[in-house]
Amino acid sequence: MSKQTDDFFKNIISHAKEYGFVFPSSEIYDGLSAVYDYGQLGSELKNNLKTYWWKSMVQLNENIVGIDAAIFMHPTTWKASGHVDGFNDPMIDNKDSKKRYRADQLIEDKIDRYAKDGKTDKAEQLQKELDDALNADDLARLKAIIEEHNIVCPISGTKNWTEVRQFNLMFATQMGAMADGAEQVYLRPETAQGIFVNFLNVQKTGRMKIPFGIAQIGKAFRNEVIARQFIMRMREFEQMEMQFFVRPGSELEWYTRWKETRLKWHLALGADPAKYRYHDHAKLAHYANAAVDIEYEFPFGFKEVEGIHSRTDFDLKQHQEYSKKKMQYFDPEINQNYIPYVIETSIGLDRLFLTVLANSLVQEDLSTPEKQDSRVVLKFHPAIAPVKAAVLPLTKKDGLPDKAREIMAKLKLDFNLQYDEKDAIGKRYRRQDAIGTPFCITVDYQTLDDDTVTIRHRDSMEQERVPAAELGRIIADLVSWNNLLEKLI
Ligand code: ATP
Repeated sequence: MSKQTDDFFKNIISHAKEYGFVFPSSEIYDGLSAVYDYGQLGSELKNNLKTYWWKSMVQLNENIVGIDAAIFMHPTTWKASGHVDGFNDPMIDNKDSKKRYRADQLIEDKIDRYAKDGKTDKAEQLQKELDDALNADDLARLKAIIEEHNIVCPISGTKNWTEVRQFNLMFATQMGAMADGAEQVYLRPETAQGIFVNFLNVQKTGRMKIPFGIAQIGKAFRNEVIARQFIMRMREFEQMEMQFFVRPGSELEWYTRWKETRLKWHLALGADPAKYRYHDHAKLAHYANAAVDIEYEFPFGFKEVEGIHSRTDFDLKQHQEYSKKKMQYFDPEINQNYIPYVIETSIGLDRLFLTVLANSLVQEDLSTPEKQDSRVVLKFHPAIAPVKAAVLPLTKKDGLPDKAREIMAKLKLDFNLQYDEKDAIGKRYRRQDAIGTPFCITVDYQTLDDDTVTIRHRDSMEQERVPAAELGRIIADLVSWNNLLEKLI
């Protein structure tokens, strides 16, 4: 990371903390590694991002419905899905620093370094070696690569490594009061399985006809070997997943369609399209016949935000085998029973949150020849902004606060607002800019005479005078979900 991008990333983290978006979990006890709490504004923003996703899936598509499955599932679920046996990361410890690493990430860091130093041949060669070792699940080979390429521990600087071992990422706990008789259950590592096991419940009770989708938002847990980069890689995080069930043979057509739809969804939030790219998987999971990531250019490079996977009939077939319950669908159009194929779209809400912060945080230079000036603004799309408008009496006296409260009392039935009468008006505008409030409504002396107020627009900083009675309609138009959703159809 260059110094400039490193500083930008640090700014995002400190801004998120300072203004109540994201706090380290249980901070008074020095935090818990890779676990974060969303504060008063962060939880509003997160809820708005969920609403945007949910509406785009469930409201815009007649053939997609949403569910909310439990975090705990029957343990056989995870046998069937392959997570008990295969949801592993290769880890390695440095004996001097006692630090633990993911072997593949150590090698990837080396590839990045080769590439940065202009040694592209070496970078490509090492990438191939890594892919081959991962494909073959060859842990000894990973260790050998680390040694051959002189990869040292970033802390101790030594090559005193342990063997590479597999580490299962699922958190396990006991269900039931008696430790002896209790059953081992897992905190789900993905939300998708809650959808697969409910496939027939939803299909039958909702009289769904293929193609159809089931959407879900919920927490997932992974005991990541190393967690880094703020809310990018967490041990408790939130996913928004949709499984789309299709007729076998039509899956690649749907895959292409969802791939395009999902990128459009990200871009509608207003980001620079150059910040996004597709990354096709070179190595496909054994059950997938196509897979792509939507990557965003974070300050630390392009990284996955969302995955779109063509998962064939793998999951439903596995559940049919392990549960001995038929997972078939009768297709009346072709008069056939079959296990549907599945296209999955899977996005991490926390990573999305980070893209939105990174896209929105700007430091603007407002200097004039007479005076140096700048401001920090979060330029959220108005529909996802945590606070829609601030109501600000120009002064604390002469009945202006009462008038402002009267205006606020009506508007708060529809919108999340803030009231602020402390400090000079300019300072209050800046406070609202820093939390991304799209509109400031100022109540001044003229308001007492003619019931008009000024609206100041966050991005242009322009002000216009409007009748207070019109405010509800004006704000509703500007923050409407419609402004985002219409870009998707
Ligand atoms: P990565 O390769 O970065 O570990 P993944 O390929 O394991 O991710 P998936 O299993 O495809 O991720 O999960 C779908 C989405 O869930 C990812 O695109 C990402 O946005 C999110 N996600 C996965 N792991 C984490 C995590 N530890 N913290 C936050 N979000 C995560």
